[in-house]
Amino acid sequence: MTSPSATHRDAFGADPDGVWSAPGRVNLIGEHTDYNAGLVLPIALRQRTVAAVTVRDDDLLRLHSVQAGETVEVPLGEVGPGRPQGWTAYVAGVLWALREAGHAVRGMDVTVDSDVPLGAGLSSSAALECAVGAAASDLFDLGLLDDDAARARLADACVRAENEVAGAATGGMDQSAALLCREGSALLLDCRDGATEHVPFDLAAAGHVLLVTDTRAAHALNDGQYEKRRRACERAAAELGVDTLRDVPADGLEEALARLSDDELRRRARHVVTEIARVRQAVTALRDGDLAEVGRLFAASHASLRDDYEVSCEELDVSVEAATGAGALGARMTGGGFGGSSIALLPEDAVDDAVAAVRAAFAARGWDEPRCFAVTPGPPAARDA
Ligand code: ADP
Ligand code: MG
Repeated sequence: MTSPSATHRDAFGADPDGVWSAPGRVNLIGEHTDYNAGLVLPIALRQRTVAAVTVRDDDLLRLHSVQAGETVEVPLGEVGPGRPQGWTAYVAGVLWALREAGHAVRGMDVTVDSDVPLGAGLSSSAALECAVGAAASDLFDLGLLDDDAARARLADACVRAENEVAGAATGGMDQSAALLCREGSALLLDCRDGATEHVPFDLAAAGHVLLVTDTRAAHALNDGQYEKRRRACERAAAELGVDTLRDVPADGLEEALARLSDDELRRRARHVVTEIARVRQAVTALRDGDLAEVGRLFAASHASLRDDYEVSCEELDVSVEAATGAGALGARMTGGGFGGSSIALLPEDAVDDAVAAVRAAFAARGWDEPRCFAVTPGPPAARDA
């Protein structure tokens, strides 16, 4: 990444007032549980989205993205549900949501650059929102980075930007990860009440590596499948007479499933309830240093997402199988699915073989070469300069 300040000078002819950044994330386990008031366990990535920002005296947003390769002007007064379209929605939406929450915000010139791969299931969208949100918080003195409670409020504004302005009906995990994760730890987030715990996640000390494979298979969450899964969960909860599937205890699962009206609902509910239980088990295993158990839980999570929740795809399945065949303790798709990325938990000395195996499996099928890279837990959104 070239210096964000230099890029900003090129785009807008002036130095920025400051530079902020926010991380992408991978979710270790707990997939499609956030909108069921369940548990998730993401880590922040070292890969980040940077926003260099100058405050304006008027209500205009001038937005430049290196990745989009364009500068777009958006009057703040014209931002609202469904407007603007395209990438600027993720930026303008945050300012709109902050204003809706009663904060005094004005126009800004914003330059965005990122090394989070876009659309790879690693949450470049939340990294963008949270980098801009962090900038707005500091520049307009909103105090939304001061502590975790304030950061959670900023996360809410970023979620509204994504759901209402960008029109992507995602849960709240990504924005919480970008704002609340800590370096060296995974974030256990209870999506029912927002409670958090930081779970030490230091694979290197144990001679292991978390390998991400960006399959580069197109993932489109706004083609209706995500909405369908959410509706199925709501239907299942309604049939069971509970607010959310979080209220179905793991040891009451069989009895609950027997009361559901059809097999599809049974499979969707079984995924959610067992996945929430797997998050708890993974936290215990991580605290005990039992990586073999973490690997088994990864594998069980993937099977559940593939067979019961039906959100995997061939590329994700092939990457998981290839990594597992090359010595991973476990591997799974991560993120919403239908493309995007998988993760594999590997002994250090098996990483090269696993990368080669995944690449060979993709090449044999004539697919684009996947991007494989090791990740470690990085820090949350912050001011950089
Ligand atoms: P993910 O969050 O997994 O990367 P999404 O589909 O949720 O995938 O978000 C990707 C979208 O976010 C991009 O298509 C683009 O609209 C927007 N986006 C993210 N980062 C940037 C960036 N650096 N510049 C411009 N747009 C971005
Ligand atoms: Mg996203």
